[in-house]
Amino acid sequence: MLDIAHLRAETPGVGNVLHFNNAGSALPPRPVLDAVTSHLAREAATARAEYLSNYLAFLQMKARVGIEIDVVDSDASGQIDLAALERAIGPRTTLIAITHVPGRGGLVNPAAAVGRIAARHGILYLLDACQSVGQLAVDVREIGCHMLSATGRKYLRGPRGTGFLYVRHDTIERLEPPFIDLHAATWTDADTYVIRDDARRFENWERFVAGQIGLGVAARYAMRVGMDAIEARVKALATQLRGELAKQPGVSVHDRGVELCGIVSFLKDGEAPATTRERLRTMNINAHEARLSRVDPPTGGVHSLVRASVHYYNDEAEVERFVRAVAD
Ligand SMILES: *Cc1c(COP(=O)(O)O)cnc(C)c1O
Repeated sequence: MLDIAHLRAETPGVGNVLHFNNAGSALPPRPVLDAVTSHLAREAATARAEYLSNYLAFLQMKARVGIEIDVVDSDASGQIDLAALERAIGPRTTLIAITHVPGRGGLVNPAAAVGRIAARHGILYLLDACQSVGQLAVDVREIGCHMLSATGRKYLRGPRGTGFLYVRHDTIERLEPPFIDLHAATWTDADTYVIRDDARRFENWERFVAGQIGLGVAARYAMRVGMDAIEARVKALATQLRGELAKQPGVSVHDRGVELCGIVSFLKDGEAPATTRERLRTMNINAHEARLSRVDPPTGGVHSLVRASVHYYNDEAEVERFVRAVAD
């Protein structure tokens, strides 16, 4: 069981705001704040859906090197259609890239089932886990991904501007980093260099050290709280929130998928999502307006949803207050 009173006491932000925008950026716990600010103080004394952006990166690669992008449809439940994925694979397919939790709603894609398809066809598998790391117990071996990217600022509760990349050891040599310097490579001769054979090949010499320290503290903090307990608590709060919202007249919940996480998407009749968000904001409540992407399935004229994302440090009383504020 999680000691919610203690976890809230370690989260200064909960005293100021009802924060249901953890999928945007979570409130950092005291140890993360202390690690970052104390390091900054030291530096001061030492004088110195698919996620939309991912798709843009693929479009850039299309323009630059001529890759072809096949968008795999969703199935009736809303998650990636595994049979359609299997059918889309051809002799020239080199990468399967999916987003674990697209972030516009509660959907969790079946990452491990995709991993089994990737393994069967011998295709590289990249998982965007920006929304899942920190709220779900994510196990790269169970999922079978070759690469996983994650951000620090969201459910992991780390500093903004940080994140990490996981690459399976046997895959490292196949990935050439887009930028190299003397941290990532050794200059061997006038015209030759050797790229490191470990994780550091993906790093740069100059880094946001305070941010990295904070990210490390945030990761250890999450492990100490316990990823299984976090996942259970986040899912339970979100289930409560979905249930209570759906009971309100004129409020519709829009989460799709088989497995659902801590993100809840909804609409209030006669109120634009941006208006709902602004109205909540005047009550010192944070939620978010989530825009649908250009590759999302058509949703009958709806272009965005209100997104309320809970974390384990939120509590049942906040869920009640949130629902009253929406219904008001
Ligand atoms: C937020 C998000 C990202 C980008 O995270 P940054 O912190 O902006 O780097 C990528 N993918 C998904 C699914 C996200 O939700």
